[in-house]
Amino acid sequence: MAFDVPFIRPIFPAAEDLAADVTEIVRSNWFTNFGPKEQRFRAGIADYLGSDLEVVTFNNATTALVASLSQLLKDEPPGGLVIVPSFTFAAGPQAIRWAGHHPLFIDIDESSLQPSLGAARAAWDRYGKKIVGVLLCNTFGIGGELIDEWETFAAERGVPLIIDSAAGFGSLYPDGTNVGTRGDCEIFSFHATKPFAIGEGGAVVTRDVRLAEVLRSFSNFGFEAADGAVRAGLNGKLQEINAAIGVRQLLTIDDVIRERRQVLQRYGEIFSYADAGEIVRNADKSSVCFAPVILRDAESRDPLLSGLRAAGIEARVYYAPPVHRHASFEHDLCTGRLELTEAVSTRILCLPVLQGMPESVFDRVVTLVDQHC
Ligand SMILES: *Cc1c(COP(=O)(O)O)cnc(C)c1O
Repeated sequence: MAFDVPFIRPIFPAAEDLAADVTEIVRSNWFTNFGPKEQRFRAGIADYLGSDLEVVTFNNATTALVASLSQLLKDEPPGGLVIVPSFTFAAGPQAIRWAGHHPLFIDIDESSLQPSLGAARAAWDRYGKKIVGVLLCNTFGIGGELIDEWETFAAERGVPLIIDSAAGFGSLYPDGTNVGTRGDCEIFSFHATKPFAIGEGGAVVTRDVRLAEVLRSFSNFGFEAADGAVRAGLNGKLQEINAAIGVRQLLTIDDVIRERRQVLQRYGEIFSYADAGEIVRNADKSSVCFAPVILRDAESRDPLLSGLRAAGIEARVYYAPPVHRHASFEHDLCTGRLELTEAVSTRILCLPVLQGMPESVFDRVVTLVDQHC
């Protein structure tokens, strides 16, 4: 069914502008392999986030995750455990496998939906010797409020902290610092479905100059100039056309995020006025990939979800099922029963946040919330 208000509607640069970029790329005869557009895009990301940061671009966030995990865990014997929430997108746990290790799923915090530090401590107590790293996830691209504590947790145990901030380019941590600046590195996705979209693309951001050099080499078959392949690697390079789109998207990102936060706020007012639920904490400081609402009453979720969809508004439920319920992960370890991860998937509702959202959509939502909650 075609929705009047689809869950995602990417806004790309004007076709004429992209045509001009393609013309330039064709004239330069430089289509990939760190060309001028990639260089500009990479510098633009660093400018946006903070000039003391190193940026390595990738063809998508999944290869960026594989590269980061592989490099930061390269001295560990294969088969270690990496702490990761189950309440995330499957790319992170899949990347842990490509790096030669296994996910060790932990629960989330009930009110923030961020990975639970208490659960990570419990995982450490139980499996400590086998744990080789932490893949923290900034849920829905929202900066986790306990980021300082997570950095301490990893540092005290001598394991790397890799942060999957895929949907969070442009988000702020609750202390006002940019998402992208913490841990050993943070990973962004620029997929068409994210608030900052270039088609397919991703990046790793780090303060570690050496790590950045090595990741760039990893993205290019593990090559180092003249010496051939000196380390593990793959082809993770970003194409010029996608980088060119990124350069243009950087010009509008602040306006885009401002508008997305306004839409989020409107939804928040509707649900709180009806006393029906609330927006996930700190989503207002994120780049707002969608509007995640935790409903007060689990009974109202399914009727409201169907009501919205029948009214042409493509609401969805994330993350259901959580990753430990996917068939491919059913034999991996969980710390405890992941009760909150299971429970939240019955109370969460994710609403579309589009740029240029017509006012009438909010009226429809008000009516349906009154009817079902
Ligand atoms: C979108 C997403 C990814 C994957 O990004 P790609 O660029 O499509 O590879 C990974 N992790 C999370 C949390 C995501 O939301």
